[in-house]
Amino acid sequence: MVKFCETCKDKKAFIVRPKTGKLICQECFFTAFEEEIHYTIISNNLFKRGERIAVGASGGKDSTVLIHVMNHLNKKYDYGLELILLSIDEGITGYRDDSLETVKDNQVTYGLQLKILSYKDLYGWTMDEIVKQIGLNNNCTFCGVFRRQALDRGAQLLNCDKILTGHNADDIAETILMNIARGDFFRLGRCVQITTGGDGVDDDDHIPRLKPFKYTYEKEIVLYAYHKKLVYFSTECIYSPNAYRGHVRELIKDIEKVRPSSIVDIIHSAEQIAININVKLPKKMKCTQCGFVSSNSICKACGLLDKLNKGKPKVALKAE
Ligand code: SF4
Ligand code: ZN
Ligand code: ZN
Repeated sequence: MVKFCETCKDKKAFIVRPKTGKLICQECFFTAFEEEIHYTIISNNLFKRGERIAVGASGGKDSTVLIHVMNHLNKKYDYGLELILLSIDEGITGYRDDSLETVKDNQVTYGLQLKILSYKDLYGWTMDEIVKQIGLNNNCTFCGVFRRQALDRGAQLLNCDKILTGHNADDIAETILMNIARGDFFRLGRCVQITTGGDGVDDDDHIPRLKPFKYTYEKEIVLYAYHKKLVYFSTECIYSPNAYRGHVRELIKDIEKVRPSSIVDIIHSAEQIAININVKLPKKMKCTQCGFVSSNSICKACGLLDKLNKGKPKVALKAE
């Protein structure tokens, strides 16, 4: 029996929306997906006309869909934004070099400017070299700290007002549960904000970071990319251990199977908790070595780099 779309009641439906469980047609799915992101942007006043926006582009599904949707909404609703792709090359052979090829394809497809910054140029080390030094224990801590600053540096170089990242609702729900499970109230309050950095709530980010996919489900991003025939790079990083996040991810996937709205409910719960947490924000200052915003006299990136250069990288670092 032919089933019709529950939204338009007109076209044949063959998509079950992961977020709502509703049976809808392809066109209605595209519209719902894009309009929800537009609503998130408008209701949170994410942009001002004329801003230059760096879109963090990794070649993965989230950033590929982000570029597509932002390009579309910017034209459709005349946001008046200048979008620029910003990629960070961590120097991971067989992973990032391949995924950057996808970003270059996107650049051509959408006709946007692209800037690639590498760890090698910024810090003198590739992740391949760092992993050789430190092994596979704290590699993501180094990589995460360097990437944060690299994005900041890139956006500043490009004279951008804001940075967009493709963090989706699943990522945010995971981070919320991770922060609850380790009692990190400062990060719990921070991870649920749609805007961090700049004058916002982050410690080491200079330029505001925005998450337009805050309420967008990972499964819907994959579905959207599939039906729009977007090409993205889907291989996992070869250095990805991150056992803690992996466990939380599994937990969320299990809960989602039973109750799809759980992901967004976790985010809404954390928003309420965050309002009630009175955490002291770290004082901001400039790093005495690199000049970037920091919560200490030496920023995390310079601190790690210093240890790396002195051949003492195996510092006791808190697992992510
Ligand atoms: Fe870097 Fe770890 Fe992510 Fe690989 S998994 S890109 S090493 S943070
Ligand atoms: Zn429809
Ligand atoms: Zn520094």
